[in-house]
Amino acid sequence: TKHFPVSRKGRQVLTRQPRAVHAVDDVSFDLRRGHVTALVGESGSGKSTVARLLAQLYPLTSGEIVLNDVPTKVKRGKSFRAYCKQVQMIFQDPFASLNPVHTIRYHLTRALRVHNGRVKGEELEKGLTSLLERVNLTPPERFLDKYPHELSGGQRQRVAIARALGADPTVLLADEPVSMLDVSIRLGVLNLLRDLKERLHLAILYITHDIASARYFADTTMVMYAGQVIEGGDSETVTQEPAHPYTQLLIRSAPDPERAHDGVPTVTTAPGEPPSLISPPPGCRFAPRCPYAAEKCRTETPPKFDLVGDHYAACWLYDSETSDEHPRREPVE
Ligand code: SF4
Ligand code: MG
Repeated sequence: TKHFPVSRKGRQVLTRQPRAVHAVDDVSFDLRRGHVTALVGESGSGKSTVARLLAQLYPLTSGEIVLNDVPTKVKRGKSFRAYCKQVQMIFQDPFASLNPVHTIRYHLTRALRVHNGRVKGEELEKGLTSLLERVNLTPPERFLDKYPHELSGGQRQRVAIARALGADPTVLLADEPVSMLDVSIRLGVLNLLRDLKERLHLAILYITHDIASARYFADTTMVMYAGQVIEGGDSETVTQEPAHPYTQLLIRSAPDPERAHDGVPTVTTAPGEPPSLISPPPGCRFAPRCPYAAEKCRTETPPKFDLVGDHYAACWLYDSETSDEHPRREPVE
């Protein structure tokens, strides 16, 4: 759970006021090695906050992060350094995350040294070469002495991935890693990440607003709305048989790649607005936009109901005790 304190103007300040932005509420999940987990949501849904919490860029308001059975509480000392080595983050904008005045060699050398001491000479060269080979930037000599601006967006993102791998991590947090890249090269970068997941047995958290890419790339998909995970399960099921009305809306309004070719404009966000997270509405946070909303939805928060397999949805439609009086997927007028 992450609440940001706010002033009356909505500015983020440190204050004892009880007002807070409920950026992430009761979000709980496991990441597994050799497994891509997607966290899908509109901007402002809290998905990037989840990544930043896991990267320990912000402290949690409550809750904990457990890595290999070890809860990480204190932000210093040996166990914190071990955590940072194991959990690496890749950002949306590879240009902003690489320093323009330094070469690729400099960036990767630093990554190797921060986490593996002062490697030098032949060992360093070997390390650099193997990092670039891992992300398919070959031959490595062609890239090592270049500056970020001399590379394409896709190559820069590959360098950012190589830099993350320099720490020899077990977890990669990828926050919209391809959304700033040309559509034509997105697939290549996602395929690279998938390949690395297999070869290095990585746990990847893939954060995206694009639910179609989650189906293609992720093993498990979770959907976030207004700071909460409202549906989850294996990607095929969540994207092909979405249970939660919000996920259904998200899929209906996702851009259709086939129609995009005909020049037909496509909608990228669902109609309506997510609620204010300063004082989220009681009950289901999607109720104001939901065509199925019933009385109970506006007063009681739906728990996660288990569906088939590992599929779950936080929606009263799936409460087996009351589903008679609650229409399943039939909109109420
Ligand atoms: Fe809609 Fe009610 Fe389900 Fe919320 S709990 S998504 S309002 S049906
Ligand atoms: Mg974001």
